[in-house]
Parts: sequence; C-alpha cells; structure tokens
Amino acid sequence: MTDEACELSGIHPVDSASDLGTMYKIVEIFHSVQGEGIHSGIPHVFIRFGKCNLQCEWCDTDFETFEEMAAVEILGEVMNYPSKRIIFTGGEPMLNDLWPLHRLFKARGYQLSCESNGTIEIPEGLLDWICISPKDQMYPGVKIRQRQGDELKCVYVGQDLALYDDLKSGFNHHFLQPCYMDAESVEWNGKNFALTESVVKQSPPWRLSLQTHKWMGVD
Ligand code: SF4
Repeated sequence: MTDEACELSGIHPVDSASDLGTMYKIVEIFHSVQGEGIHSGIPHVFIRFGKCNLQCEWCDTDFETFEEMAAVEILGEVMNYPSKRIIFTGGEPMLNDLWPLHRLFKARGYQLSCESNGTIEIPEGLLDWICISPKDQMYPGVKIRQRQGDELKCVYVGQDLALYDDLKSGFNHHFLQPCYMDAESVEWNGKNFALTESVVKQSPPWRLSLQTHKWMGVD
C-alpha cells in the first residue's frame, strides 16, 4: 500500500498484518469522561473487554456479552473519537495479549491505561498508567500478582486496611471507593459513602474516590 493509501485507510506502513488481525472479545467501546480516581474528569476512550476471572458481588458489568472484533476494527472505532487516551477495562483486560493493540495505538501517539483486578502480572512497558483494583476483600485466597503501578483503588466494604500494607508501597496513589450497588437503596449506598469518607479521614494516605460518572448518568 502507498503512504497516501495507508493514510486514507488509517493503516500505518509499520502495522503488521498479524497485529491488525488479532481478535479480541469486546463488550463495548465508548468515549467518556473518566469518573474515578486521579484522572477523574479527563476524557478517554474506554475499551471494555469480555470475560473476567473473578465474580464480585457488586460488579455492574455484563462481561459475558461481547462480540469478537479484530484489532483493525477496534482501531477504526477508537480513531473516530478525538481523545488520544485509552483505558483498557473489563471484565479483566489482562486476560488478553494486549501487545498488538499496544503497537497499533502507540504508533499513533495514544496514551494507554488499564484498570485491572491485579491477579495477572502486567508486562513491563505495555502500559503508561496502571490502576489496580484488588478484590481480595472478597476473595482472601486470590493472589495479587501485579504489585506495582500508579494507582491502587480499593472498593471499601468495611475491610481492615492493613490488608494493603504490603501492596501500598508499590503504588503512588491510594484510593478508597465506596461500594455502590445499583440494586440497593439510596440509604444503603449513602451509608457506604459516609463510612468510606470517615475511614479515609482517619487513614492517610488513602484518598476518597467517587464514581462521579454514575451521578452524571454516563457510562
Ligand atoms: S474483577 Fe472487576 S470485572 Fe471482574 S467481577 Fe470483579 S468487579 Fe467485575
């Protein structure tokens, strides 16, 4: 393909056919404002992968409903949006080999982040920002293998924060997020907000993370 034809089709001469043809299970791709944690308020393109190796009781994602998409299709959809920041989420994104997407997006200047439950080690250099949200408050037997990253974000359900004493030192930012369940009452969720806020006030360096996108009524 000529350079001009490549540009028109969105394909770079450096893209490999095998990267472009790599298949992924995709629940949805959407453009939204990050509602949680340190990048709250910044627009991103979210790529939500199907499948997860855990089943948290508060999980609000239907990660079993997905379509098979080739990386080239994912690329085409993401490039429809003006944002150059991507969040790989799920489900559990690290169940996938993300190197083909890494190569394709990095060739186009994207910044790559993930939100992962931490049970799968993340290869060095794959991502620009790693947010780990461990679920061992629910699954005491689950081993957290990714022990380093940028952001540690824990859903608070009353667990002893000493649980994270070892893990904390591997991360620069520490967030507690109230457990929010759509199916529960305003009062039930309100109590969790109040409890998490009071725990954060007593427990530096933890900070409060709120799912502000839920208040805005967006994904
Ligand atoms: S790890 Fe995340 S995606 Fe998986 S079940 Fe728990 S909340 Fe849902």
